[in-house]
Amino acid sequence: MKLRWFVMVFGWMLIANGCFPAELPNDTTQTTNRTAVSTASLMITPSQTDTATPAPTLTITPTPFLPATATITTTPTLTPDPNYSIIGPGPILCPILLYHHVMTVNGSGSQYAVTVDQFTAQMKWMKENGYQTIKVQDMVDAIHDGKMLPNKSFIITFDDGNVDIYNHAYPILRDLGFTATMYLIEDSIGDYGNFSIEIILELAEVGWEFGNHSSTHAYLPSSRNCEDEICFSRARLIESLNIPIDSFAYPFGTKHEESIQAVKDCRYTSGAGLGSWTIHTQERLFYFSRREVKGYFDMQRFITLVTDIR
Ligand SMILES: [Zn+2]
Repeated sequence: MKLRWFVMVFGWMLIANGCFPAELPNDTTQTTNRTAVSTASLMITPSQTDTATPAPTLTITPTPFLPATATITTTPTLTPDPNYSIIGPGPILCPILLYHHVMTVNGSGSQYAVTVDQFTAQMKWMKENGYQTIKVQDMVDAIHDGKMLPNKSFIITFDDGNVDIYNHAYPILRDLGFTATMYLIEDSIGDYGNFSIEIILELAEVGWEFGNHSSTHAYLPSSRNCEDEICFSRARLIESLNIPIDSFAYPFGTKHEESIQAVKDCRYTSGAGLGSWTIHTQERLFYFSRREVKGYFDMQRFITLVTDIR
């Protein structure tokens, strides 16, 4: 009995001192928590070393400033030229002058010739009053679609391809920074007193525009060969010159229904006639108005011709 009591008392003492676990280790959450904590502590340690690696991101920060300096360099090109603006689409104001000859002396007093002195004074007046030349095709484009053009545009046209235009008018226009449009008689190119292919190509190179003035300068209403005068001659000009020929000038300024239709059918973009309008419209593009500068005009008559708006 004594031994049994000893064993019981000793056993209670062990339990009371915690030498045996009070519960079975079946609580798995405790172990999971323990691993979670340890994992967390593992992650903290490498993240301390990672704080050194983001350093390269500092080099990214300055890049947004680079485009700012780039925009500063491009700003000057955005400055608009006050002498130019978008003209059209729709009707546009543009005086179109017509000349035939510019001679040193107008001995015969022909109305179709102006002297070098007259022409110089007229072109200087245009320059001093802020006018700038454009091409016929510029006017056509502006009427159809709108185009960036000089605010005070005008067009100089010459008919027939007379060589005195190259000898006398061209140097004056060149010195003033003007160009012009020449309507050629296809059959006469290279003849005595007329433009040669070399002259045409030289002037095309410096910005002159060329149009067709028919193959033989025929009176179209009575011509039996309108198709050749208007259409086939255009094809031959393009083939021999390799430049655009997009406008047709009616010989003698004479038009009739068939010739206007032929100009349209032959895919010209405009037809040059005679008239008093300076405001041009889409409806009148296939017989647009040109004001002829006649040899007997004084300076005041010329100024009125240019500035009278209709
Ligand atoms: Zn003519």
